[in-house]
Order: sequence, then structure tokens, then C-alpha cells
Amino acid sequence: MSKNKVQFQAGYSLIELFQNYGTEKQCTQALFKWRWPMGFKCSECGCDKYCFLKTRRLYQCNKCHHQTSIISGTIFEQTKLPLTTWFLAIYLVTQSKTGLSALALKREIGVSYNTAWGMKHKIMQVMKERDDSKPLSGVIQLDDVYWGGERHGGKRGRGSKNKVPFVAAVSLNEDGHPIAMNMNVVKGFRLTEISRWAKHHLQPESTIISDGLACFSAVSDADCYHVSIVTGGGFQSVTKKEFAWVNTMIGNVKNAITGTYHAINPKHLPRYLAEFCYRHNRRFQLDDMLPRFGYIAVRTPPMPGRLLKLAEAYG
Ligand SMILES: [Zn+2]
Repeated sequence: MSKNKVQFQAGYSLIELFQNYGTEKQCTQALFKWRWPMGFKCSECGCDKYCFLKTRRLYQCNKCHHQTSIISGTIFEQTKLPLTTWFLAIYLVTQSKTGLSALALKREIGVSYNTAWGMKHKIMQVMKERDDSKPLSGVIQLDDVYWGGERHGGKRGRGSKNKVPFVAAVSLNEDGHPIAMNMNVVKGFRLTEISRWAKHHLQPESTIISDGLACFSAVSDADCYHVSIVTGGGFQSVTKKEFAWVNTMIGNVKNAITGTYHAINPKHLPRYLAEFCYRHNRRFQLDDMLPRFGYIAVRTPPMPGRLLKLAEAYG
């Protein structure tokens, strides 16, 4: 697929954003529709009858009297910001071609840096949860990468200290073009780790193409076929066509993260990788990115600030 197809697609303009989600009422209605597409349903007893307590803006179940706000139990829980600010932030982060730093977001939407950082990471968390729930299928190129490691020329980064290991996987269509990808931080390139990763991120019966690194044979634990191609390592290995796409994506993600953020805290690398993959996986869907995102956001559990700042679990 050509670059032009990405650049000249219909897209979604700021004008449309303001027309559709320019008021609190519109944003609340959108969240309601995404959260309860079949109509209100009480999270405690399943009852579908409720009354809206206008002054406190709460939905009260008619049967068990449980009260819930439109944002409780979602990634937006406890926010004090207007929903319109959230929708604008989501728009900017999901539509930007190369990513938007917390600092840039702060300037665009007029909040403090800490607030912008929290919003940005919550948005990235939604992206991560979404793609983590969609295993790759078909023919998949797989490679091992170190964040901060030397990739080209001489010694590969394998085994280096102070570097964050992650796996990069790209699924291809019959023409050999990339369909979807995911990149997940792992504890190391060991059989048990790759086995755990594969069961979570690969559909059974997929065909996995990797180089000769021993741990990749563990994809068979996820009922996948494994084709190992011995490359001999070094710069020449990345030019082999069996690995062309995964190597292109690894180069792209490193450039994108370094270009947009300059430096990131490696403990948050999983979310930055997820953001890159999410955007790439939806590069032909710019026009309905926002409702798709919103549908997942109201199903993503709350993430208080202290949790956001912890090192993340391995994907
Ligand atoms: Zn109830």
C-alpha cells in the first residue's frame, strides 16, 4: 500500500471534532453510547432501568440503587477536566502522524505538564490494552530488539546490560505487505519468556519467521509453526528479505520515539511501543479513530497517577 493512500484518505478534521464533540453534553452522550451500546446496564445487578440524578450527574439503578457516573470504572475516572478537553487530547494524540509529547500536549490543550503527562499515558494505556487483546495471525516476521542497543554494525545488542529487551512482530498479507504489528517488552530472550509472550500475542496456526536465536522456537508452545533462518548476524542480516518489514518497523519505531520524545524513561517503554503500533495498525482508519478509541477507553480500568508511574508489567 502506498504512502499516498495514508496521506490522502478522508481523515477527520478539527472542525468535525468540534461539531461532534464540542460540548460536555455531546461528549457525555458519546461516552454513554460507547459504554452502554444496548442502553444503560447496572454494573452491580444488571438492571436496565435507571434515573439520572441531575445535580450530581449520577446514574442510579432503579433496583439496587447503585450509583455510577459516566466515567467511573473507566480510564477517565476521577478526572476533573472537562470531557471536551479529553476528547481534544485523544484527537490530537491519535491523529498526529508521529506522536505528540506530553509537553506538546500541554501547550495544545492548556493544562499543566503533570496533567498532560497523565493524560498522555492514560491514552497510551488504552492503546496498549487494545492491541494486547488482538493476537497477530498469518505469516509473521519476528525479531529481538534492545531499546538503547546498537543495532547495526558489529556486535548485536544481545545480552547487553542496562538495555530493555523487546520483541517486534509484524504480520504480513499474501502480497508480503504488513498488516499489523506489535512490540512487547520481555524479561529477556529466554524460552519461558517467548513462550509466555507467544501464547498471548500469536494466534494458533500462524507461521513465525525468525532468525536462529534459540528462544524463538518456543512459539511452538502457542501452536504456531516456526521457520528459523540463520543469518549469521551483523549488518547483512537486516537486509534479508525475510526480515525486511520487521527491520523497517524497528528502525521506524526507534526514529519515531527518539524524534518525538528525545528521551524517555525506559520503564515506560511498553506504552511508547504500544502507541507506535496502535497508530500504525490504524493508519487507514483515521476517520473513525475517535469512536473506536472511545469504545475501548470506557472499557479500560482506571489508572491512578501512582500506578501510571510504576514500571509496567511485561506484555
Ligand atoms: Zn443495580
